[in-house]
Amino acid sequence: MKLKTRIHVFTTFLMFLILTGLSIGIYFLFEKMTYERQAGQLIERGEELTAELNEIAPADANMVIRAYMPPDGALQIIGEDGRVIRKVESDSRLRNFTAEPAGGEPYTINEVKGVPAVTVAMPFISTGGEVAELRITQLADDIAHELALLRLILIGLTAAAMIPVIASSVALGRLVTRPINVLTGTMRENREKGAYEKIDEGHGRDELHEMALAYNDMMDQLGRNYEKQERFVSDASHELKTPITVIESYARLLKRRGFNDRSVAVEAVDAILSQAVRMKDLTAQLLDLARSDRAAAYMFKQADIRDIAEETVRPMRQAYGREFSIEGPDKLLADTDPDKLRQLLFILLDNARKYSDGAVRLTLEESGGRVELAVADHGPGITEADIPHLFDRFYRVNNDRNRKTGGTGLGLALAKEIADGLGAELSVESIIGVGTVFRISFPSKWQQAGSGPMPEKKKNPGRTPT
Ligand code: ADP
Repeated sequence: MKLKTRIHVFTTFLMFLILTGLSIGIYFLFEKMTYERQAGQLIERGEELTAELNEIAPADANMVIRAYMPPDGALQIIGEDGRVIRKVESDSRLRNFTAEPAGGEPYTINEVKGVPAVTVAMPFISTGGEVAELRITQLADDIAHELALLRLILIGLTAAAMIPVIASSVALGRLVTRPINVLTGTMRENREKGAYEKIDEGHGRDELHEMALAYNDMMDQLGRNYEKQERFVSDASHELKTPITVIESYARLLKRRGFNDRSVAVEAVDAILSQAVRMKDLTAQLLDLARSDRAAAYMFKQADIRDIAEETVRPMRQAYGREFSIEGPDKLLADTDPDKLRQLLFILLDNARKYSDGAVRLTLEESGGRVELAVADHGPGITEADIPHLFDRFYRVNNDRNRKTGGTGLGLALAKEIADGLGAELSVESIIGVGTVFRISFPSKWQQAGSGPMPEKKKNPGRTPT
């Protein structure tokens, strides 16, 4: 069954049950109250009659009984042995009717020729000193008519109330299923066309609006991932083409002349080896780049930035025998992902090492709730024209120079992606002939948009830190 039909059937059925229950309740309450009122009147009449019977002579009893006879009613006096002592009626329908009141009930209702008859019974002591029972019965034509009218009114009201109920359940079904149908249609279209189309988010603040927002967010993310993947594949194939061509041509040269000419063989093997190493570095960095913005990869927690800096620099000092100095406070606590920050620092320090000869300085600082790390070198510097492209994939300031340093042009692109993931700003200042400074700046307390600090929490890639 369709959701719309289900909502429709369920709400209609539920409302029908409620209205019918209410009508039945009202009907029986009214019926009970009316019969009780009639029985009360009969009891009053009976009490007055028994009081009168006690006072008058038995010869006058018939006259008194007739005087107390209810209209459309009957009156019986039953002796102790169950024998009918006296029986009079003012309505012929009650001629053959003998009231049999149920024990314990204040009144009983019997049906006489299709009309309800209310009977009350009360004991009394007759003038002869005998204990007898007085039974008064009255036909309730009026009540029967009133109840029939009430039944009609209630059925009519229930039927009338069901019309808006059915209309509103149809409207509710449409209201709920329309956005779902739009969403399903868009999803189907996206699948058929291979597109990432979004749906109208509307203006409401309800769950349907939330669903549209979540769907659009997901489309954004899928679209970004798809673009990233496409870029990755095209970048990778483009960048791998050169080393593969070099390897192929040297392998051919080796095959043609390498077995006769040792110098050619040495040259070819060297070239093939260096290109293979380059391809290995390239693929490792490309993979790093592809993984860099996975949301789950970022785990924020409070960490000592000084420790992270020391841990990054220590192995570099040993490996390259170069001077790497760290300046700043001995302890600097901030919220970050230590592994990712280490990776980012490593790229910047490694570049400073590769592109300069002197000492490399790493400065730590905290001010105005932000932490700043600066990597400075005294290298040749970067021209102003190159600076805007530094963070592009495969961008190299000077190809020849970078070939020698084994660069791939991916380091700073990866650094930028990591900085974005960490919610950090990455900037560069450089003066030709003087040196270059790369700065990382991020808030010391990690905050997700609209919430408090969240150490040890996974970062939401769609939000930026405040
Ligand atoms: P690579 O793997 O070639 O080093 P990067 O993305 O790390 O790739 O660097 C991109 C370009 O920026 C390179 O061409 C390099 O010359 C230049 N560069 C990066 N850091 C520095 C630096 N500290 N000093 C001078 N040039 C730099």
